[in-house]
Amino acid sequence: KDLPEESKDHQLTVALRIRPLNEAESDEGASVVAQRVDDQMVVLMDPCEDTENHLRANRSREKTYMFDVAFDQQAQQEEVYVATTKNLIEGVIAGYNATVFAYGPTGAGKTYTMLGVDSEPGIYVRTLNDLFKDIEACKDEMDCSVYMSYLEIYNEMIRDLLNPSSGYLDLREDAKGEIRIAGITEFSTSCAKEIMALLTKGNKQRTQEPTAANKTSSRSHAILQVTVKQRSRVKNINEEVRMGKLFMVDLAGTERASQTQNRGMRMKEGAHINRSLLALANCINALSERGGRGAQFVNYRDSKLTRLLKDALGGNSRTVMIAHISPASTNFEESRNTLMYADKAKNI
Ligand code: ADP
Ligand code: MG
Repeated sequence: KDLPEESKDHQLTVALRIRPLNEAESDEGASVVAQRVDDQMVVLMDPCEDTENHLRANRSREKTYMFDVAFDQQAQQEEVYVATTKNLIEGVIAGYNATVFAYGPTGAGKTYTMLGVDSEPGIYVRTLNDLFKDIEACKDEMDCSVYMSYLEIYNEMIRDLLNPSSGYLDLREDAKGEIRIAGITEFSTSCAKEIMALLTKGNKQRTQEPTAANKTSSRSHAILQVTVKQRSRVKNINEEVRMGKLFMVDLAGTERASQTQNRGMRMKEGAHINRSLLALANCINALSERGGRGAQFVNYRDSKLTRLLKDALGGNSRTVMIAHISPASTNFEESRNTLMYADKAKNI
């Protein structure tokens, strides 16, 4: 299964979203230091007042970063969805895999983009709505079924967010090399309201632990896995069942363990989170290098996250990374780290 040549350019898309300044930030006197310049460029200004120091170090207080697409606080949920995720649906119905990641520090807007709120639903619900519409439109030729699971990976352990009492679940690889999670809940409603309610409830089950820096830092990766199985209705033409998988991932906060003054248990979590983010970064770097320096060895075994996503990273799969930052001067360091990571993901 080869993708048409022109779509190979789109195998890795990196987007950047700047959320609005919030009340807490303006209350503490924060200024706006991150701004969208145009639809691909973002500028970050070092709030450090020491201009002479900058001049001596021969570096500018302003630095620009490039992305496939950049959004600022004006961007609506629909716009972000259309520019990043909507065009993955056709491929998934045709049997290709895809992954969408929300990346960034705690509080930068990852869950808002993916899950959203009832009045402004995010990528999960918008994607599923369009997926069901497309399936309905071709129901005379195709017989499609859709299964969804919502899980978290926390400390390298998998939990079913729709049935947290089932404990930790195993990642298994069957004889055909298909990765599956033993015992996970699969739901198959096409009612948007019901989906939003299920996911909102599931999201509340995520492991969120207080840390010094933030009261509700998400320490886990939340993953909505959507599997589309389809069979042609036209007899004797195509008896084979095709399967496409779409993973939509709300990653754990990327703030560094040192910043949260974590000790003991929190420290260990930090190490696990960093391990999966590092494994993910390696996979994404390998993806962005393809075509350039040729095939790279990707070690998917390095973390649960990359093992689960094995079939949906690389190959003919599409990957979208939506990095998130706050515009506030008080979050400058985290924003700079995020911009550097996301810019690098694309340009390495
Ligand atoms: P994260 O998941 O990255 O920790 P959240 O998505 O929970 O961050 O966002 C933190 C807060 O900011 C939430 O109250 C959320 O509703 C709000 N928020 C984030 N992004 C936006 C946005 N683009 N527009 C309006 N509010 C936002
Ligand atoms: Mg969150």
